[in-house]
This record gives sequence, C-alpha cells and structure tokens, in this order.
Amino acid sequence: MRRCRNTKIVATIGPASCSEENLEKLFKSGVDVFRLNFSHGGHEGHAKVYEAIRSIGKKHSCYPTILADLQGPKLRVGTFEGDRIELKAGDVFRFDLDPALGNNERVSLPHPEIFAALHGGSLLLLDDGKLRFEVTDCGEEFANVKVLVGGSLSNKKGVNVPQVMLKIPALTEKDRKDLGFALNLGVDWVALSFVQRVEDVENAKSIINGKAGVISKLEKPMAIKALEPIVDVSDAVMIARGDLAVETSHEDVPVIQRQVLNACHRIGRPVIIATQMLESMITAPSPTRAEVSDVATAVYSGADATMLSAESASGQYPFEAVSTMADIITRAEADPYCIRRLEDDTQLPIYTTLDAICSAAWNAAEYSGACVLVLYTDSFEAAARCSRLRPRVPILLITESKSLACRVGLCNGITAMIAKKEPSSDVQIKSAKIAVVEKQFAQTGDVIVVLRSDAENSVTICRV
Ligand code: PEP
Repeated sequence: MRRCRNTKIVATIGPASCSEENLEKLFKSGVDVFRLNFSHGGHEGHAKVYEAIRSIGKKHSCYPTILADLQGPKLRVGTFEGDRIELKAGDVFRFDLDPALGNNERVSLPHPEIFAALHGGSLLLLDDGKLRFEVTDCGEEFANVKVLVGGSLSNKKGVNVPQVMLKIPALTEKDRKDLGFALNLGVDWVALSFVQRVEDVENAKSIINGKAGVISKLEKPMAIKALEPIVDVSDAVMIARGDLAVETSHEDVPVIQRQVLNACHRIGRPVIIATQMLESMITAPSPTRAEVSDVATAVYSGADATMLSAESASGQYPFEAVSTMADIITRAEADPYCIRRLEDDTQLPIYTTLDAICSAAWNAAEYSGACVLVLYTDSFEAAARCSRLRPRVPILLITESKSLACRVGLCNGITAMIAKKEPSSDVQIKSAKIAVVEKQFAQTGDVIVVLRSDAENSVTICRV
C-alpha cells in the first residue's frame, strides 16, 4: 500500500486500538509506526499486538514499524479501586508506598526516592501538571498533601517533582526486563524516557547492541543543555512535549521544539513531535483549529513524524484521529512553500562520502524532473542521510534487510521494499524500473533516479 505523504504518523496502542481488527483499521487509516507503551499493559498484551502488526504487514506486503517506548525512571502513581477519582482544590490527600488500590483518600506512589527528597512546601505535579499538590507533612514512606489544583486522577498517571533533584537510574529494573522482552520480540525502535546525559544513551545502546534503533525522548531540561551531543549519539529523537512542558514551562516548549528540529536536521537524525497534537479528538470527532495548526507547523518545520498518544490508545475516535492527522499532513505537504522552507536547514553539507552521493542524488532528482528516488542500500545511515536532504520526490528504499525495511518507517519520505541483491548495476536498474511501477511510484516513460549506496556508490538518471 503506497502512502502519498512524507511525514510519518506514530500511533500509541492501547485499549481503544489493540485488537487485531482495530490495528488493521489504524494501519489503513494511515499509521506508519505503532508505539507499544511499556508504561501501560503487560508483556502478553504487547506480544499479541506485536504479532498482529507483523501479520498486517505480511497481508498488505509492507513493513509497519514497531516502537517499544520504555517507561524509564518516570514516576507514576499506582491504580485506583474504580480506575479514577475526582479531587478538588482544598482537599487533603496522601501518597504512600502501600501497593493496595487507591481511593479518595490515598494512592500508592512506589518511589521511595521521592519521599526521601520531599519536604514541607514541596510541589507535586500529576498527569502532565494538570493537578497540583503541596506537601504539608512527609516521612520516608508517605507524603500528606493539600490539593492546589484538582481534577480527575486516573491509574498510573505521571508525577513530576519540579523543584527537587531525584537520584534515579536512567534504566530502571523494569526497563531492563521490558527491554529484553521487546528485543526478543524483534521491535524496530526502542525509546528511552527521561534521558539527561549522553551516557544514558550510550549505556542503553551498549545493551541494545544494534538489535533496534535508539530514540532519545527529550523531556528534561538537562537533556536540552546537552542537546547536540545527545542528538549525535542517538539514532532518532522524540520531543516529548508533555513532560517537557511540566519540567520547563509551557512557553519554553515551542522554542525548544525548534532548537531540537534544527539540531536533528543539521546532524541528520529522524525526529518525532509528540503529545497533545490532536488532544481534543480523545472525546470529539474533529480537532480544534489550533491542533490542526500544530500538526501543520510540525510538517512545515520538517518533522519526520507526528505522534498520537491517548487519541489512538484510549480515545473515542482513534481512526478519525489518524485520518485527520494524515489529511493535515497531506495538505501542508502539497504547499510548495513547505519544501522550500526546509532547504536552508537540511542542505548544510556534512563532508562525508555518504553525503556527497546523497547530495548528488538530490540534485539529480531535482533537475531531471524525476518522480521518485530509488535507494539501494542495507544501511540505516545511508537511508537517514538521504531522507535528511528532504528530496522533493519520494524515496523508494530497496534492501535485503527486513530489519532496515521496518526501521525506516520512521524516516520522512521513505517507503521500503525487500529484494535480493542483484549481481550487477544493470540488473539493479532494470529491477528498480519494475519496482517503481509495481509500487505505483512511476509509469512507463517517467524519469527516475537510482542511488546505489553499498560497496560502491553511484547515481543514475533513467527512464522507466
Ligand atoms: C511526553 O511526556 O510527552 C511523552 C511522550 O511521554 P509519555 O507518554 O511516555 O509519558
């Protein structure tokens, strides 16, 4: 199935979307990357979703991408007897280490590091900062709090302690177990939460050992201070605007979003913009004007992918949210001004052979009137560097590697297919001509560009 847009859609899977039938509906609505959120759900459920997505890929002869998002040292409350409670300003409440189900008076907060660091007057922010609490009294195993801003509080919502430095490891015990499980399944990407330092990424990469690409989720001010080195050492980046807004401030987020996008374009790493992109579609069948503008702005500023969280995981309109996102992306990309805006950022040269050959292919596609750029490679680096240049035409990646075909689903503009390595460049070009017609990228008589980046590098302009 050919998608006629370059910016990819990441959808988080949850109760609203995890059945085989709903996963296929999501795929048909436009999802390119399926996000398994290890903050929710058990291994058995994730394994079922994983298998279902792989069989959808087989059925439709394509390679959907699967991303395992590790919880990281994210602090979350436990679960409630009736799944959620309501709190109002002035109420008293208690967080403690008791694992029993929560109620209107208390809930489990299974992080002794928090209680160790709190003092009277400390702030606790819940559910992306929507609810605010002030600590009135605390000990090693509890904190009594006063509700400053109330609202609905449901199972496993995130907790931020903005004024306090917590001593917590980048990969928790749970993350290590989830990571081993996800790698055994064969996921294409692993996202690391709450990255603060280059070493957090390096440590994870040494465990992952190339079995999956590594996405650094940028949500801590410390990570923004070390932005370039973190982007450099990561295979891709996610701007996790939910926690980022809580950890910094709302007005900082658009500024940081631009800094991250610029760094990713300069260095050549795929970048996902995440959180609240179509938030109102959790409960409504159409988005707000501001949300439409947010998604379009992500496209204009050159994001590789935009992400849905609760919209697709637990919302009432998961499929409508995906098709709405696809429509906004397609419309923005049809604006000639959209691609022109990206050229300044992406055309900065990086002096490597790979960039030389990718630039040559970009020029060949630009000036020959080609309708597709065919890329023969088994290297993710080559695919990412080619995508970084944001050619005006789509990229059809032909590879022997199934893992590469699945991984590039995150990269702007790339569609993948698998084929055996051809013995000579002549045969490769012949096969490229057949492939572009078969995959509906070109018709007889159209010009195409073929970039071969393996042992040898070459660019060919030819007619189908
Ligand atoms: C975020 O904070 O924006 C985010 C994507 O993180 P998560 O959904 O894992 O809490």
